Amino acid sequence: MSILIKDSIIVTQDSNRRVFHGDVYIEDDRIVEMGRINVEADFILKNKIVIPGLINMHTHLPMTLLRGYGDDLPLEEWLTTKIWPVEAKLKAWHIAIGTKLAFMEMIATGTTCCNDMYFFEDVIAREAKNFGMRCYAGFSIIDFDTPEMKKEMLLPECEKFIKKWKNDGLITPVIAPHATYTCSPETLQKVAEIAEKYDCFIHIHCSETRHEVYDVLNKYGLRPLQQIKKYGLLSEKTMLAHCGWITKGEVKEISSAKACVIHNPVSNMKLATGGYTPLPELFEAKACVTLGTDGAASNNKLDMFETMKFAALIHKHHRWDASIVTAQQTLDMATVNAAKFLGINVGSIEEGKKADIVCLDAKQPNLMPRHNIISHLVYAASGFNISDAIINGKIIYHERKFLNIDEEKIYEEVEKAKEELLQS
Ligand SMILES: [Zn+2]
Repeated sequence: MSILIKDSIIVTQDSNRRVFHGDVYIEDDRIVEMGRINVEADFILKNKIVIPGLINMHTHLPMTLLRGYGDDLPLEEWLTTKIWPVEAKLKAWHIAIGTKLAFMEMIATGTTCCNDMYFFEDVIAREAKNFGMRCYAGFSIIDFDTPEMKKEMLLPECEKFIKKWKNDGLITPVIAPHATYTCSPETLQKVAEIAEKYDCFIHIHCSETRHEVYDVLNKYGLRPLQQIKKYGLLSEKTMLAHCGWITKGEVKEISSAKACVIHNPVSNMKLATGGYTPLPELFEAKACVTLGTDGAASNNKLDMFETMKFAALIHKHHRWDASIVTAQQTLDMATVNAAKFLGINVGSIEEGKKADIVCLDAKQPNLMPRHNIISHLVYAASGFNISDAIINGKIIYHERKFLNIDEEKIYEEVEKAKEELLQS
């Protein structure tokens, strides 16, 4: 497949953060040429704002099925009376349909790569492959039976899962111990062994709530990050979701371990976790900071444009300083920072890079006039300004329509899954 994007504003996110007016030509899975180009192509797009596909670093894809179910409740009550009872009824087909819906929403709002953590992860990986989504698929490890299998089966099944997907071009298997309050020291240690054996990424919730921090401190005498470190899980392969209640010392430890923090401002605010991921201190310590939406039950969208805006605003407001997190730093978190951490050749638009690119229609009322395009992307744009999405060189979403996907059928099945899950 070849794609030519003409007469557009190209936000490269390269090392100079160059923005220019021109064309981009894509052949197979690569960006071949940039500048002024006159060639024939299978697809020609015109008058766009072209940006690297956004990378959503923390999500629970099938939770789209729980969007809007039991909002506005205290966290504990929400989990115990709403979320967990429904999750216990999940079957593979619910997961498949919830994942499809998540990909539709993500791609239609500019996300081309996601880092997931859930049950039935093999079903999720398969759906990602079918959809053409770049996906880091996190096989959840927890000390409870899951809706999919008995707890004793989780570690051996996770190994099988890693072996099955480890050489795939789009899907990367990840081991995902849920958190230090749901995984015993013994479990954490076994996770570390598997991660080392297969050299795979680790995705874990860390210090999301103050309750969690004191729970772990009371039980083990250590804070969650210390517990993660003690059992060999803090490395340059570790992705720490939330970190809303970490200390300045922990910021340094994360930075020197070269681990990655995933900031989920919308979910944190909606669940009222009270903590502020210390972005200014993490930036100062040169730690890797990325962004995630979290699951659709606690966001309730998977729109990374909204997450970018909240990520910048929450810290400006909290620190009484409008300069503390800039639009450029925010766009970096959603693109290059994540790509660099994951070690993949995406996240910027440069010749030779893999083509994970999304386009916004250039002429939209909320994007005019163009004083500063980076500012528009973070503060003015909405996910639904996206018109086209290209993943690994393939157009998946074109002129606001999915190619090769029956949207109506997915909506019907989503409603069917909802009805079945809510039956007692
Ligand atoms: Zn989460």
